[in-house]
Amino acid sequence: MKHDVWAATAPATLDELDPRPAGSSLLDVKVMMVDDEPLMTDLIQTYLEDAGYSAFVATNDPRQALSLLRSEEPGLLLLDLMMPQMSGFDVLEAIRNDRDLRYTPVIVLTASTGPEAKLRALQLGAADFLAKPVDESELVLRVRNTLAFRQYHDRQINYDLVTGLPNQGLFDRGLDGMLDRRQLVGGHVALFSIQVPECRQLRETVDDATADGFSRVLARRLSLFANDRQLESALATPHDRAPRVGRIGAEQFGVLLEGVPDTDTIEAEARRLITALTEPILIGPHELVATPWMGISVSPSDGVTAQALRRSADLAATHTRATSAGAYQFASRDLNDRLYQRLKLGGQLRGATQRGELRLHYQPKVDLASGRIVGVEALVRWQHPERGLLPPGLFIPLAEELGVIRQLGDWVIERACHDVADWSRQGLGPLQVAVNVAKPQFRAGDLGQFVRQSLQRSGLAAGQLIIELTESMLIDDVQSSLSTMEELKALGVSLSIDDFGTGYSSLSYLKRFPVDELKIDRSFVMDLPGRNADTAIVRTVIALGHSLGMSVTAEGVELPAQRQCLAQLGCDVYQGFLFSRPVPAEQLVVMLCGDPG
Ligand code: C2E
Ligand code: MG
Ligand code: MG
Repeated sequence: MKHDVWAATAPATLDELDPRPAGSSLLDVKVMMVDDEPLMTDLIQTYLEDAGYSAFVATNDPRQALSLLRSEEPGLLLLDLMMPQMSGFDVLEAIRNDRDLRYTPVIVLTASTGPEAKLRALQLGAADFLAKPVDESELVLRVRNTLAFRQYHDRQINYDLVTGLPNQGLFDRGLDGMLDRRQLVGGHVALFSIQVPECRQLRETVDDATADGFSRVLARRLSLFANDRQLESALATPHDRAPRVGRIGAEQFGVLLEGVPDTDTIEAEARRLITALTEPILIGPHELVATPWMGISVSPSDGVTAQALRRSADLAATHTRATSAGAYQFASRDLNDRLYQRLKLGGQLRGATQRGELRLHYQPKVDLASGRIVGVEALVRWQHPERGLLPPGLFIPLAEELGVIRQLGDWVIERACHDVADWSRQGLGPLQVAVNVAKPQFRAGDLGQFVRQSLQRSGLAAGQLIIELTESMLIDDVQSSLSTMEELKALGVSLSIDDFGTGYSSLSYLKRFPVDELKIDRSFVMDLPGRNADTAIVRTVIALGHSLGMSVTAEGVELPAQRQCLAQLGCDVYQGFLFSRPVPAEQLVVMLCGDPG
């Protein structure tokens, strides 16, 4: 089991908590200057550039000051007091009365040394003064101090000092900006409101250091999650990218996903997030596990302002907790109903194997030259008590998520071996049976052993069994794939690559894998013989397979013209509705009895 280790006593330095992206510093802050004398603005720019400041904007017309502040959003303003068109005091006053600009730090430059002017500027909120003529080192010092103070202050009011995450205020402002953009370009924003009661409980029952360390680990996991999953919006620039993670309460975190395509994606992310958060955390002597609850709201349906969206998500989180309906819940009724259906289906799936609700159907594989059935593919179905016969697409992914796929897959192998061994004993030809395996099954490490036992128990000859794998499964971890494949080959079992052409397998891998058969994906067969591109691909795959000593099967053949084209291209075997759909064992037996082979 993976642990996040965090020394409870490690002091959080300011650097560790620094929420700014790496590499940004005071020197990156944009400085703006308003002074009627071009010579003055040029001089200050030179001084600042010598000191390492890289971003500088200036105007010599104070009437432009406000609009320039709005468009440039500088981190500091240097403002001359004595200007002919409009005085520096008027500019200051206008800034203080502007909702967006009022917190811009301002250093005033003044030739007059009298106390009245300084007092007035101070009352209008100036941060500091500089006497004209400006001394270079004094300028650099004042600028630096003002920026540093401002940054410190910023951090105090915008960030959670324990985790370094944006606090509720900053998080909400970021969310509002994100929502405004989304009203222009469309698309969803999903807000996860996550409550973690342990943050408070640890403070009450252990100590502050442990509670803080715990919160920091969670914050780090949330940030990693958000960085990994930046579903980028077309509009987001580094400048307006809003905080995606925040600490929005003592025991509450927020995560934003922008530009999410659909609710299935949101749900998958929610599950991932919960998984990440519930990994054990080791702090000093304590092994801790978070028990998060999560409410999810989605814009625009649950609200178009940060406040509305957060209220919906918070409510859903509280509701999740109260009903213990799992780890997360959507704010909207419709989504919850769907979620509930899935949860219900998942619950039923857990017991389906034991209750004997799984069925195997078999689809014949036919030799193109002779027209004879040379094998079958076993395809699983679930006889659901209320919903009838369900296709694998509806429950295989769910079984993988729930961790019951191995149990299900084992049943399929066992059953297929017994059925085909029985048919052989009845004299229904030596058929090969192909069985699909899922990635978790293939990766588990005991597939070879289980196959060997199934062969023994059923009496099926190893040469009659084909295991179907997919490209994505193999290239994931080539070394471990190879060793599992070698193990199966050593038993005498054949290997096939299913849906060939849809994955990314490179030729060099293909050569190394001990594969006996390629199955051309249905998508290439579908438009035969009309589409030249598909014909070329199919021809190439056949040539490739044959040159590596593999047999080639085409999937999804529905039309006589497709079959004819495949035969002409030299394909070995086909499978598809044209010959037969997948059928229950009894029907297959009837078919086999009628087959001249
Ligand atoms: P697959 O292994 O590529 O299986 C072929 C799929 O294409 C089957 O869908 C089959 O019914 C369908 N098919 C066959 N001929 C035609 C045709 O002419 N036209 C059309 N439109 N479709 C055709 P099915 O049974 O729904 O299975 C879907 C997928 O589920 C399979 O794709 C396989 O990846 C997976 N699956 C099925 N059984 C198992 C199993 O026992 N274990 C695992 N892990 N996956 C399975
Ligand atoms: Mg298959
Ligand atoms: Mg296939």
